[in-house]
Amino acid sequence: MAQAITTAKAAAPSQAAGSSFSLKDFFKSFVLWELLVGMKLTGRYAFSRKVTVQFPEEKTPLSPRFRGLHALRRYDNGEERCIACKLCEAVCPALAITIESTVRDDGSRRTSRYDIDLTKCIFCGFCEESCPVDSIVETHILEYHGEKRGDLYFTKEMLLAVGDRYEKDIAANKAADAPYR
Ligand code: SF4
Ligand code: SF4
Repeated sequence: MAQAITTAKAAAPSQAAGSSFSLKDFFKSFVLWELLVGMKLTGRYAFSRKVTVQFPEEKTPLSPRFRGLHALRRYDNGEERCIACKLCEAVCPALAITIESTVRDDGSRRTSRYDIDLTKCIFCGFCEESCPVDSIVETHILEYHGEKRGDLYFTKEMLLAVGDRYEKDIAANKAADAPYR
């Protein structure tokens, strides 16, 4: 009991020190110091170069390696590049790719089904990296959406259509990135 009283007495001076009057704090409070510091920061950035853009009217530059919507590519003669090796399916960490293959009459192997579930995709780019014939690619397209889950399930026909439509841009991005590979 005596020890508890001694401890309470020892703690009392520090509690008193915590509630002591500070002229400096009073002055800062009186002149709204924090507000002035905030206004100083606002003023500094009000006249500096703007880094925000008015999207979607204004756009920032995209790297040739930007990983957006997927596409399947064709060769110049119209033949699809994909040889159904399934490397992209095997490497996909999200299990977003589903491939089925068939052998044509001429002995060449092609996909009979190539689906990507974009609701699973994490846009890691592994599929593009693994493809030996530059067939599956991730384009620079980032403005797309689905209004229900099935809308983001891309079939082979849909992926080929994206590739056909943007082949010029895809080829230009590949060429721009080639020196760094
Ligand atoms: S980008 Fe990655 S997660 Fe998406 S389909 Fe390709 S390998 Fe799979
Ligand atoms: S897209 Fe490329 S990696 Fe995937 S199955 Fe076709 S050829 Fe193979």
